[in-house]
Amino acid sequence: MQIATSLVPRIVRNLGPDQTMVLASVCLLRYCSPLVSNSMSLIGNSTLSRAPLSLLPMRGLQVAASSLTSNSASQLESVTPMTERWKPLCLYYTQGKCTKTDDPLHLAKFNHNCSKDLQVNAADLKCLRSQHLDYFLVLDLEGKVEILEFPVIIIDAKTLDVVDFFHRFVQPSKMSEQRVKEYIEGKYGKLGVDRVWHDTAIPFKDVLQQFETWITHHCLWERELGGTLRRAAFVTCGNWDLKTKVPQQCVVSRMKLPQYFMEWINLKDVYLNFYHRRATGMMTMMKELRIPLVGSHHLGIDDTKNISRVLQCMLVDGAVLQITARRNSSSPENVEFLFKNRIR
Ligand SMILES: [Zn+2]
Repeated sequence: MQIATSLVPRIVRNLGPDQTMVLASVCLLRYCSPLVSNSMSLIGNSTLSRAPLSLLPMRGLQVAASSLTSNSASQLESVTPMTERWKPLCLYYTQGKCTKTDDPLHLAKFNHNCSKDLQVNAADLKCLRSQHLDYFLVLDLEGKVEILEFPVIIIDAKTLDVVDFFHRFVQPSKMSEQRVKEYIEGKYGKLGVDRVWHDTAIPFKDVLQQFETWITHHCLWERELGGTLRRAAFVTCGNWDLKTKVPQQCVVSRMKLPQYFMEWINLKDVYLNFYHRRATGMMTMMKELRIPLVGSHHLGIDDTKNISRVLQCMLVDGAVLQITARRNSSSPENVEFLFKNRIR
């Protein structure tokens, strides 16, 4: 495990005086359907004064409330392109179900490009270390009682590009209709995505079948061979997703825990051992690395994008990722943690 030469991320240190940062609070209407409630999404946070240039959503910021610069606010207008405002992802599109891709009004309101906020400058790749894996599968589940959302983004370990993404809303299998309704309203209503959840959610079993087809298509796994992922590993923020939640959901959905969930990388453990600082969650890591929040916190696909941005930043800083937790093959209930120093 490499040790950072400094606690300040390289891409922040490289900022020039004329590289003005804009962190904008943007009011967004997530879904324009009259059936769907409006929501406020945040991009940026006034406490995050400088972000890595390479990880900022470079275009599409519509300044509504606050803007901060590394120099002075008066420079903002002259250096910040305002050609296209930031847009929330179309969550029908992310699940392969958008029927409005030829509707200019819809396209003007929603982003149909999952990698838009995940672009890294080529110049920042020069300090990348060689990795043990070719691909990272960033995963951030949502749902406390049962899993409600299953988003995965594949990041190429050499180019840091988004290879592809997989996103499904998940229908609980053991909850009454009324309970699901309340649960979804409480969880997704405030984000304005309850309608799309109801329109698209499918059972966990079906989600995993589709996920398996998808990873097979990317040559990362083969159904016939089973086993763990090939040249790739899941990256999560904490151990909860794969240590606790997926096995619980497999019991509820009456499935065997798939072999590809047997090991993972807990980004918080890598963060602790690389930067020598403890981060309790995604928001802490983002704040410390000065990465502005994109989209809605606690919407799984947006959190997955933000965790991907933390991952990209750590790779740019020279971190080498390795498996941090592995289930014992003969007794899968036992998880071995591979770092001595870890977040408990
Ligand atoms: Zn769409």
